[in-house]
Parts: sequence; C-alpha cells; structure tokens
Amino acid sequence: MSWKVRPPQVIRNLFPGTTWRMPEQEKVIYFTFDDGPVEKETPWVMNLLNQYQIKATFFCVGENADNNQHLIQELLNNGHSVGNHAYNHLPAWKCSRSEYFNNIDKARPYIPGNLFRPPHGQLYPWYMKELKSKFSKVVMWDVLSMDYDKRLSKEQVLSNVTDNVRNGSVVVFHDSAKAWERLNYALPKSLDFLLEKGYRFEVLKMD
Ligand SMILES: [Zn+2]
Repeated sequence: MSWKVRPPQVIRNLFPGTTWRMPEQEKVIYFTFDDGPVEKETPWVMNLLNQYQIKATFFCVGENADNNQHLIQELLNNGHSVGNHAYNHLPAWKCSRSEYFNNIDKARPYIPGNLFRPPHGQLYPWYMKELKSKFSKVVMWDVLSMDYDKRLSKEQVLSNVTDNVRNGSVVVFHDSAKAWERLNYALPKSLDFLLEKGYRFEVLKMD
C-alpha cells in the first residue's frame, strides 16, 4: 500500500495550517468527493448519499462548476458542502505562483464557501499564508481511496478505505469518470462497512 493512502505525520508536518484529520475523540468520518460536478457521477453519488442520509463535502473543479451550476445548487439543497479545487485543477508544482492563485480566484464565483483543497494535493508551505487569507480551511486527507488509479482493483480501493479509516478521518473519493469503475463498487461498500462499525458522517463546514 502506498504512503499516499494514509500520509505519515512527517509529510503532514511539512504543511502547517492544513487539515488532514478532524478531531479524533468522536466516531465521525468526513467523506469528500473531488473533481466534479459532472453529469453522471455527481448525481449518482448524491443519490446514494441521500439513500443513506449521509452528508459529504465536494471539492469542485471551477470549470465543472461553471458548466454545471445546477449540480452545485442541488448539492447545497441536499445539505452537502462544496469547496474550491481551482478552476482548471492546476497543480501547484507545475505552474507559477500567479497562475496558481489566479486559477483559484477564477473558480470562486462558481463555488461558494471558504473551503479549499489543492489539486493533486500539491502545495508549497510558503503559499499557506495567502491561502489562509482566502479560505478558512485548506483540506488535505487522512485516507485517500485512490479510486482514480486504474492500476488498482476495486477491492483494493475498498480496503484502502476500510483498513485505514479511524475517528476524524477525512476520506477522499472522486466523482469523476476516471474513478467510476472503482467508485461505484467501493463507495456503497465503504458506507455499509463504516455504518456497521458505528461511525457517523459529517460535512466540513463551509464558513
Ligand atoms: Zn482533484
């Protein structure tokens, strides 16, 4: 299993001020869905969560939010949170500082609230001050399902989640075509497993 699934503390410490895990006292899990909203996968996830009466947080790509504003509205109407994931999913290590922040600002009109997740989890520690001036939370993850990785079986994606979750885990899935084959298997099975274990689910607050 990759170190990426549950990043070690030494990695987390490189980025002070980011959120990897929520308070560990309560049996609460925070599911997050990245890279939507898109026509097929986002409504499917939303319907499934509604069936389970579970709320989650969606880190939206600005361009997708721009093209699918009705889905942003539907997420909010259903009690989910949304967060900024940049307009074009630009990774920090592959663009200039000004490109990076312009791309984040370009997404803001389409995605309300004060949550941000850096595309590809890429960040520079010296970007944190500006990010924290724009957002109340810069959210990383405690457990990465790796549902986007075609080299993994759907069973492996499920066990990435079930073997690693713990109190306060922020868990990443993707409401994207790329993840679909693994998502549609691992998400309902993860929910069944965690509910059986007595976990509750909450959103990351948008303010
Ligand atoms: Zn992403």
